[in-house]
Formats: sequence, C-alpha cells, structure tokens
Amino acid sequence: MSKIICSAAIRGAKKIIDMAEETYEEALKKYGAEQEVSFPNTAYFLPVIYSMLGAKVEKLGDMKDIFRECRTLLPPVVTEDIWLPYLAPALDAGMATFFAEEMFEAIRYLNEPDFYTKTEDPTAENFWLGAADDVVFRKRGVEFVDGTAPGFAAILGAPASRETASKIALELQEKNLYIFMHDQTDGIYMPQELVDNNVQVGWNTRLVPFGPSYTSAVFAIGFACRVALAFGGIKPGDYRGNLLYNKDRTFAFVIAFGPVSDEWYANAAGAINWGFPTISDYDIPEILPTGICTYEHVVANVPHDEIVQKAIEVRGLKINVTKIDIPMSFGPAFEGERVRKDDLFMECGGGRTPAVEVLISKEMDEVEDGKVILEGPDIGDIEQGQNLPLAILVEVAGREMQSDFEPILERQFHHLTNYIQGIMHMGQRNIMWVRIGKAAVEKGFSFKHIGVVLHGKLHQDFGAILDKIQVKIFTEKDKVEQVQQMARKVYEARDLRLGAMTDETEDVFYSCTLCQSFAPSHVCIITPERIGMCGAYNWLDGKASYQINPTGPNQPVEKGECLDPVKGSFAGINAFVNQASRGAVTKVSCYSLMIDPMTACGCFEAIAAMLPQCNGIMVVNRDYMGMTPSGMKFTTLAGMAGGGMQTPGFMGVSKHYMTSKKLFMAEGGVKRLVWIPKMLKDEIGEKLKERCAEIGMPELFDMIATEEQGTTEEEILEFLKEKGHPALEMEAAIG
Ligand code: SF4
Repeated sequence: MSKIICSAAIRGAKKIIDMAEETYEEALKKYGAEQEVSFPNTAYFLPVIYSMLGAKVEKLGDMKDIFRECRTLLPPVVTEDIWLPYLAPALDAGMATFFAEEMFEAIRYLNEPDFYTKTEDPTAENFWLGAADDVVFRKRGVEFVDGTAPGFAAILGAPASRETASKIALELQEKNLYIFMHDQTDGIYMPQELVDNNVQVGWNTRLVPFGPSYTSAVFAIGFACRVALAFGGIKPGDYRGNLLYNKDRTFAFVIAFGPVSDEWYANAAGAINWGFPTISDYDIPEILPTGICTYEHVVANVPHDEIVQKAIEVRGLKINVTKIDIPMSFGPAFEGERVRKDDLFMECGGGRTPAVEVLISKEMDEVEDGKVILEGPDIGDIEQGQNLPLAILVEVAGREMQSDFEPILERQFHHLTNYIQGIMHMGQRNIMWVRIGKAAVEKGFSFKHIGVVLHGKLHQDFGAILDKIQVKIFTEKDKVEQVQQMARKVYEARDLRLGAMTDETEDVFYSCTLCQSFAPSHVCIITPERIGMCGAYNWLDGKASYQINPTGPNQPVEKGECLDPVKGSFAGINAFVNQASRGAVTKVSCYSLMIDPMTACGCFEAIAAMLPQCNGIMVVNRDYMGMTPSGMKFTTLAGMAGGGMQTPGFMGVSKHYMTSKKLFMAEGGVKRLVWIPKMLKDEIGEKLKERCAEIGMPELFDMIATEEQGTTEEEILEFLKEKGHPALEMEAAIG
C-alpha cells in the first residue's frame, strides 16, 4: 500500500478516535455510564460494531471496551524511520475509524436529537437524514438482495458545479445505485447542489443525504453490514463472513471529491475492508494492485465525466439491463419469424448491398458503455424498397474478456437481431443479410434499435465477461467498406489461430446447435479441420464458447471409436447427433457429401452439390446470384440443402472448409471440385492453389471451372475434358 496513503489513513484514524473518545468522556460525565445510546428505531444496535465484534452497544458504558478495541487496532503513526510496508495496519486503522465514528454519531443523537431529520425525505429546514431506521432499511435493504439495487456510491464531498453534481447523480441513478452523500468540499455540499438544481433528494430517489461530516460515512457501511445480517444470514460477530458477503454481493464504492483529508483517507481505508474501493477526482497516490478489493483499491485523478464509469469498472459492477427499450416486440418467440417478400420494406446485405458485422475487443477506456451511434441514413430517410449498405461494429471491453471470445459474441448477433419482431437476420460476418419488415417500420424501427438490443442482451447474457459495450452502425457505403476491410483482417486472424491442429490430434469435437431455431434438427459438428458451415465458428470458438457458457449451444463431443476415417464417421459423434437432433439424424459423416452428410440450417456460407454428368462437385457461395451448372441458383439450392435434413448430394459448407484437407474426403477430396463461381475462386485462390500443390497437382487450380467457362453441366463437362480434369477418371461418385 502506498506509504503516503497508509500514513495518512493511520493519522486520520488517530485523529478520529481521539475526537470520538473526547466526546465520549464528556458524554459520560454528563449522562453517566447507564445512559442508553442507539441509532433511531433499529434492532441492530451500532451495526458496524455489532457485525464485526458481535458487541451490543446499548449504554454509554458499553463503549469503553470498544474504544479499547479501537486503540488495540490502531497501529503506530508512520514516521520516516518506522515503516511497516503492508496493507494490514491501514485496514485495521480504517476498521477502528468506523467503530469510533459509529460511537461518535450515537453520542451525537444523544447530544443533538434534531441534528438529523430521521425521515425518508429532507425537511424544509434540513436535508441531512441520518442513519436509516429499520423501516427504511427493510424496504430498501431487500433491493440489495433481489438485484433491484446492485449497491451504493458513498460520496465524500462535492464537485464544484451543481450541473456536474446532478449529472453524476443521474448517471449513478441510471445504474440503479443508491447514492449516500456525506461531508463537503470547499464549503459545497452535494445535496445542496442537487436541491438548488431542482433535483429531488431522499430515499425515494435513491439520493440520500446522510450527514454533513465525514463521520456519517459510517451510516453507509452500517447499512451494508445490516444487509449481510438481515438478508445474508451472517451472524453478528462473524466479521469475515460479513466482509466477504459485502465484497461479493454489494457493489459499493467511495467517490471522493478532493482535496482528501487524513480523515477521509481513514474512511477510505476502512471501506477497503469490505472490498469497496475509492475513486477520486483528486491527485492522490493510487493503490492499483488487486488484493482485498476485486480490482484496484484507490484510483485517482479521474475526470468528472468519467468518474461513474470508472467507479463501476473498478468495483467490477455488472451492468444489468433489465429492459430492452425498443418500440417493437422483442424475444425468442420472434426468432424464427420470416420477413417475406410481401412484408418487406427494405434489406441490407444478402448480395444486394455490402454488409458486414463484426465484434472486437478494446481497452476499457476506449469503450463508452451504452453508446449507440448511427452514421448514415436511417429508415425514416429512405423509401420503401431502397436498400442500404450496413455495417454493425460492436466494440466491447471487460476485465475477463479475451479475444478468443470475440467470434462467439459476434455470432450472437444472428439470433439477437432475429428476436426483434419484424426483423430477419441471416448469415454472418461479411455475408450477413438483414431484412426489415414493413410492420417494424410502422412501429418506429430505427437501425439504432439493433444497437440497443445488442448492448442490452450481450450485457444480460455475457455479463460475466463484458463490462462495456458500444455499438457503431453505418449505412454509408464508404464507412461500410472501411469496416469490411478491417473485419476481413480480423476474420483472417481468427481463422489462422487453428494453426497446426488436425482432426486426428483432438479427441473432442464441438457441436453447435445455435441454428436450431430455424432448423430444429440441425447440428453442426465443428472439427479443427471443418469449421461451422456459417464460417463464424471454428473449433477454438466452440471451446471458448463452452468455457463461457457450459450449458450453451456448443458442447464438447467425444469422437469415440472411429468407424471410418475417410468418411469421418465416429461412434461418439453419431450418438451425440442422434440425441441433439432428437432422433431425426442418427449418423453423420464429417467428410462426405454423399453418405450421411452433415445437416444444414440456412446460414451456410456456400453449398456443395454433386454434378452427376461431370462426376464432380460444384460449390456456390451465397453472394453469387447467377445460375449454376446444377440448373439452380443459390437460393433454390439453399431450399434443398437447408432446414436441418440430410440430403445426400447437397451440403452446406464454409468457405474455409474449401481448402481443408478433409474436404469431400470420402469422394476423393479437392480433385472432385469441378466448378465454383469466379468471385469465390478469387477469394480463396491463394489457399486453393496451395492445396492443389500439396496433393501434387498444382495444375488442378486452372482445371476448376467458373461461370466464365459455363453455367450448364454440358458446358462444364466440355471444359473438364479439354483440361483433363481428374474427376473424370475417378470412380463414379453416384453408384
Ligand atoms: S451454422 Fe452451425 S456453426 Fe454456425 S451458428 Fe449455425 S449451428 Fe452454429
């Protein structure tokens, strides 16, 4: 712990104990040892002392032992030549501070019965409410347990302007926190600033003016102690249980508007015992290493417009978005809803316009939680049928966030966007496709609502790893292309992470059932060499997703006995698929198009189809709108391959799988590939050339036809013959 802070805290504690003890001695003389003392209307005595020591302070005479305990706890004041460089003495000093302050405040109730209003709201003459009685405590304390209020901000002092004070108070209220206010800065009291700015204060608005001096900070700590006693089942005297309960359950912190006095340091050190850190706008030494608190203990020099965000981050408070505030209905019930042609207002992506969605992680200070911006025209600026480009860029930050989790979070966009009534989302990455229905537009849909949904739901579902989320939505072509460019690099880096892993080196594959809302019997089996057909989930993503959510859609699947290494048939995989498809699919060959192929949902990046005359396989990607040699366009093929059924001869594949060693292994591998659209050939060109060279046939690349050679089987067959394509010499693919 910083020597400066530690010595100031110990100095402050000594001053407070001296001051309290002096007041006590005077009271003892005046009232005698038998004089009853208490906080008003409470069965918890002096709650900090009761919680920590199990001692019931009922009479002035009972305080004697507690002052003795304070003196025992109080370490020697730090001097230049005596220095014990550890945290414990400062924490003890902080604890003694609260004991002394609690007794001081109890005597204040005796000496000045009208010092506090003892009401829920300020009166015309006085806004200092004092300690919460048991009526208020019962009503409010339960909110700390049922999640309605995650915790409180104990504020010492005040910012210089009433506008800043109001803004900070509002920000804290928006996070559902209670705001306990104490003391002043340069003669300015925060409750006074709020009242002057027409902000209502009192328990009902969660803006609670506890007291005009730092000693009333003990009311905040006492409140936390009572929550642990009353609702946490912690016994009086179980100090460890009480401190841990509050550290884990009560998201509280101190905000100190400097200058910071020795007495404030003593209170801050005391609060650290409960895991409550201090955040200050003032230039004080920081205590950054974690230890007692979840993260940092003291953070300084925080500007006023960042102080709430910083406090929330440092305390590790998880944002709980309870309501998704959009005008359309929202929920899983709408996930499978389609937006058909007649219902369509406009669409983005799906080959009609450029579109992309990507989630990346950033540093904490680069993300402003809840920020949703839209650059470009919104739905109200366009006519029906006018399609727009679209980029959805989500930036997240979190103490527990890892870049490995990015694809899992990004893949949530699909079902979360589909939760919005009247909006349909297909595809992913840079082949995403969003259809906006007329009904949604009539209800007031804006592109920003997608951001509101993603922000709220990602917090709800992934609160354990995400602290901050901001969403940027672009509907201008230039911006969309910029995001696409950035996203391409991100996708590439993700795909490369698999490195040298092969299906043989791993005993466990991962399932994905995320698309069962569209295709109830569909199960993707994700192997190191065959990523999910949407192209968004690879084996590592499946593993990371399982780590985040062990009961989620990505489960580890033991391969079990290998029944056929060429087809990619495994006993464990079959058993899993049978159970996960509820008996609809009993066997799956991971590497075959013709025998028990993997089912497809509707999200595949591309479709593979057998071309009987050519004795080969064609693959068409989603963005290719033209005719294919199968006699069908992508959309017709998608209808045949999708829906969660096994259709030998048709299969959903990812673009990445096109260059895998396991591609169509049962049918002879890449040598069966006879046709792909030029755009796909260009996109995967380098890797495909490498793959052809790997099998000793570098010339194969030029033998694979595209629409430039033809779009009918006859035309392609002609070309294959001319080139001497190996597929023509292979065993008949259809027996
Ligand atoms: S296509 Fe497969 S891997 Fe991708 S999200 Fe759907 S079920 Fe999961």
